[in-house]
Amino acid sequence: MEQEKNRTFRDKISYVSEQGRRVWIYAKRPAGKLYNYRMLLGYFLITIFYIVPYVKVNGNPLFLVNFIERKFILFSKIFWPQDSYILFVTMISFFIFIILFTAIYGRVWCGWACPQSVFMELVFRNIEYLIEGSPAEQRKIDAENLTFKKIFQKTLKHLIFWIIAFSMGFTLFAYLMGIEKLLSIFYGTLLISKTTVVVLFVFSTVIYLVFAKLRELTCTIVCPYGRLQGVLLDKNSMAVSYDFKRGEPRGNNSKDGDCIDCKSCVQVCQQGVDIRNGIQLECTNCSACIDACNKIMLKQNKPKGLIRYASLNNIENGTNFKMTPRIIIYSTVLVLLLSFLITLLATRKDIQTTILRTPGTLAFQQEDGTVGNLYNIKIINKTHNQISVTLKLISPSGNIVVAGNQQLIVKDQELTEAVFFVNLSKDIVQEKDLEIEIAIYAGEELLETKKNTFKGK
Ligand code: SF4
Ligand code: SF4
Repeated sequence: MEQEKNRTFRDKISYVSEQGRRVWIYAKRPAGKLYNYRMLLGYFLITIFYIVPYVKVNGNPLFLVNFIERKFILFSKIFWPQDSYILFVTMISFFIFIILFTAIYGRVWCGWACPQSVFMELVFRNIEYLIEGSPAEQRKIDAENLTFKKIFQKTLKHLIFWIIAFSMGFTLFAYLMGIEKLLSIFYGTLLISKTTVVVLFVFSTVIYLVFAKLRELTCTIVCPYGRLQGVLLDKNSMAVSYDFKRGEPRGNNSKDGDCIDCKSCVQVCQQGVDIRNGIQLECTNCSACIDACNKIMLKQNKPKGLIRYASLNNIENGTNFKMTPRIIIYSTVLVLLLSFLITLLATRKDIQTTILRTPGTLAFQQEDGTVGNLYNIKIINKTHNQISVTLKLISPSGNIVVAGNQQLIVKDQELTEAVFFVNLSKDIVQEKDLEIEIAIYAGEELLETKKNTFKGK
């Protein structure tokens, strides 16, 4: 089999020459049905990416991942550090989903939805085509000496690239610290530190370098997901595949297979891959080669799909997709995790309280002769309404005195801390520790009861 004989593709990366130099990829602009779908999805995702930081529900952003203040907002619901177990389960479920999705559909994420591919193919490359022209013209510009035209084209292109990179960095920072704080850069009322502004500019420059210079290398050298493909894919995984049974031997003779060796599929590949050599590490499953080959097949009056989404088993043996034990195990784990996550979200309390005896304090005698212990209370209000919390001692009999105000006002989506005394009559207090029970009310509504210990000495 031609494909088996030609194994050299497994020893080198398409964009590194024999001498170890970078081979710059000048890819042709794809065109076709799948590219149109990809554009629709890609521009939709880009719009979502830029709009979300400005969207507010009940005064809260839709998403915020503020690691510094440890404040996380998902779909306008605030998750506090106390909710981190929910975020942990969400992340694990997401990773399992990615693994399962990859095991079945291969690298569809990479070619269709990954921000690197979406911005590279639909934004940066299109600007390049607009300013420098076709791949042949780009190659000519790069090879020629410095001229006024070349300086102008390169400066304009890189300036636009940097501005887009800055807009991406700015938006990513908005997800981290909120859009108001970031917009203050432009309004002269700086709400973030100057260091953050410098970090933002450095970060934007890194993004610019990724899209202007690193490009396709990101998918194989930097991205951990790209590197995992070898273990995630098997013979049943769907991938952009060349039907070598139908296509080989290549050529234009009547005895030859359907591939006329026109290399259209190679010319459109932004990863520099010749998919006819089999599934390769660099291939992001973008489907540009499918569109290119389908166009050739139509011209040749041959059926489409010489390059198509198919598993190796499908190409080799004509078998359709089947559930493997691996997929069944992944699916079961995913369903269990999702059920657990839904239960966690459904039982998540809107108001969360923590009561701890103030460390290092002992029992002391109050002016009225009772014995007191000091406690700290933390109340997190996850609702969108301000609440007024009162504490009542259920057992044993005694009273609670909150330092400052007997009623604790907790603003919406905020955390309030206070200290309070539990005072018990001398007759009840014994040498050893007593168990006490405290009720926490929001208005008339009993939120919960908490047990704690009361030091007798
Ligand atoms: S081989 Fe085809 S699917 Fe893979 S990256 Fe190249 S054009 Fe995209
Ligand atoms: S585009 Fe199709 S026919 Fe042309 S070289 Fe590629 S696989 Fe062969």
